[in-house]
Amino acid sequence: MSSLDGKVIIVTGASRGIGASAAAALAKAGATVVLTARDGTLTEQVAKSIGPSASSRACDVSDYAAFAALVADTVSRFGKLDALINNAGVIEPIASIAESDPAAWGRNVAINLTGAYHAIRAVLPGMLAAGGGTIVNVSSGAAIRPLEGWSAYCSAKAGLHMLTRAIALETAGKGIRVFGFQPGTTDTDMQVLIRASGVNPVSQIPREKLTPVALSAESIVYLCTPAADDLNGQEFSLNDPSFRARVGIA
Ligand code: NAP
Repeated sequence: MSSLDGKVIIVTGASRGIGASAAAALAKAGATVVLTARDGTLTEQVAKSIGPSASSRACDVSDYAAFAALVADTVSRFGKLDALINNAGVIEPIASIAESDPAAWGRNVAINLTGAYHAIRAVLPGMLAAGGGTIVNVSSGAAIRPLEGWSAYCSAKAGLHMLTRAIALETAGKGIRVFGFQPGTTDTDMQVLIRASGVNPVSQIPREKLTPVALSAESIVYLCTPAADDLNGQEFSLNDPSFRARVGIA
């Protein structure tokens, strides 16, 4: 029996990058996975490549009603929802605060923070009623470290970091497991945009030094298993040697 046999898991931002890799790894561990992102065609391609235990639905996390409908549909199809991988995110706008576009700044927060809240708000009542559930919020080192040109991203991820702690506080003793996970600099399309900006030290990291998405995927699978029970309520970085040792990453 695989570690996640019988589990039903929604993965946001699953059309590419860390989300697509995590969805595949969760399915490999036995879970039924529902993939979502704005680009429905790409997300469906990823789901098809995973196999029959994966399905997809286009959804923008900044639209609460759309996400709530996705959750209701998932529960009606599979009878339950065990976990949410809250991974959808954007880096833009990359701009100094003084020169940033207010609308673009607000869109970043609407996806990275409010969008993540939407997903949590949509799944949490059902998880509480069921007496259990797992939420993995994909955070960033930028949640705790300001980086030039990334004020929107850093602020939104700092908010998500606090949201993880707030969920842990409000759901203590109610069967909810919640984790923040910082992937570290990982080889995805997001890093292509970052390199092209040339704006801060992260943009100078050569592609070959970036971490493969598979390590984030492995960590996310680990956080969904009972092996991570004692880590509940905390945020972890893939760069943390003790966390890597727990997951079994060399
Ligand atoms: P990516 O390759 O750009 O993928 C981002 C995913 O989020 C895509 O599937 C995208 O699909 C989806 N997405 C964006 N806006 C969305 C929205 N409004 N509604 C629904 N889905 C949306 O980036 P990634 O590197 O895999 O990033 C995944 C997560 O890891 C993000 O939260 C990111 O902040 C975090 N992270 C990444 C790194 C890194 O170095 N790569 C480091 C730290 C943290 P659509 O465009 O089709 O919607």
